[in-house]
Amino acid sequence: MHLRKRILVTGGAGFLGSHLCDRLLNKGYEVLCADNFYTGSKRNIVHLLDHPYFEILRHDITFPLYVEVDEIYNLACPASPIHYQNDPVQTTKVNVHGAINMLGLARRIKAKILQASTSEVYGDPDIHPQPETYRGNVNPIGPRSCYDEGKRCAETLFFDYHRQTQLRIKVARIFNTYGPRMHPNDGRVVSNFILQALRGEPITIYGDGSQTRSFCYVDDLIEGLIRLMDTPDQITGPVNLGNPGEFTVLELAEMVMEMTGSRLELKFHPLPEDDPRQRKPDITRAGKLLDWHPQVPLKEGLKITIDYFKELFKNGDL
Ligand code: NAD
Ligand code: UDP
Repeated sequence: MHLRKRILVTGGAGFLGSHLCDRLLNKGYEVLCADNFYTGSKRNIVHLLDHPYFEILRHDITFPLYVEVDEIYNLACPASPIHYQNDPVQTTKVNVHGAINMLGLARRIKAKILQASTSEVYGDPDIHPQPETYRGNVNPIGPRSCYDEGKRCAETLFFDYHRQTQLRIKVARIFNTYGPRMHPNDGRVVSNFILQALRGEPITIYGDGSQTRSFCYVDDLIEGLIRLMDTPDQITGPVNLGNPGEFTVLELAEMVMEMTGSRLELKFHPLPEDDPRQRKPDITRAGKLLDWHPQVPLKEGLKITIDYFKELFKNGDL
């Protein structure tokens, strides 16, 4: 008879997953982390390896998994355009076959399951900010489609399992999140700019830099995921989780340069295909259902993230 809640985190060795494992262990739960280390790293979880209630399993979720847990957080999927476009067919597979496997597991063992969905389900949005009721403007055949449509199909599967089998589901639509343990080479705007500033290289601006993004600090995001998982069964989501502060890419570049005390050349590159012009979450629903309000302003979170990358840089880990 198990008294301690057992939780499976797929993608637990990744950026968000490793922070989630930390927080769940701190809450006193038993955590099973399943990861194939495609973009995740042992470095993210090495501090947990001796924890008596932490277990790591090298596993690819496109194959079935048989474990006994009470809750599943399904995070396994490469998240940055560079990584998810490297093998787009695998990206669709992780999202669709992976979701089917995890939903099948949840159904068999009667576990509650949360899906890490994304603001990319809104595509290049023509409604601003984006509420959960917005159905999106997504290109089904572009270079981002493997991820965007894969995540949309995963949401469909979650809701069909819920309707067909009364499975307890939670769907979080995560907006751009940053913080320590971001993959240094994943080409995301925050990690790119910080690394460029630390190396004294030109800052790469795609397009004219007027496109906007909203950046959520990782601790806030994890708090939102856990609150969503803990809601009563009738709450399924989708729920947007993100920080509504909106910044242009140029503003972010300025901020990073100021905070690292650098003044660098701005190098303009063409805007990648289907790059959304603007993105900002409407988080009214998260406020009402979860009483969730992001606490960490961009400057504060950037400082912690810059310090993290400085440390890697100093230790020769970059
Ligand atoms: P990440 O790349 O750091 O983590 C993903 C993890 O999944 C990695 O550890 C990777 O090795 C693992 N993985 C990939 N394919 C797998 C497979 N087939 N089987 C098992 N493990 C596999 O990315 P992240 O930023 O931590 O993102 C986590 C989740 O959150 C993803 O589902 C992503 O789509 C979603 N998300 C993230 C953001 C963000 O800004 N970081 C925004 C929206 C959604
Ligand atoms: N971007 C940029 N320079 C970079 C990396 C990204 O100007 O070195 C831009 C990118 O074109 C996009 C925004 O920053 O408009 C956010 O990109 P990221 O890949 O971080 O996230 P996503 O596009 O998935 O929101």
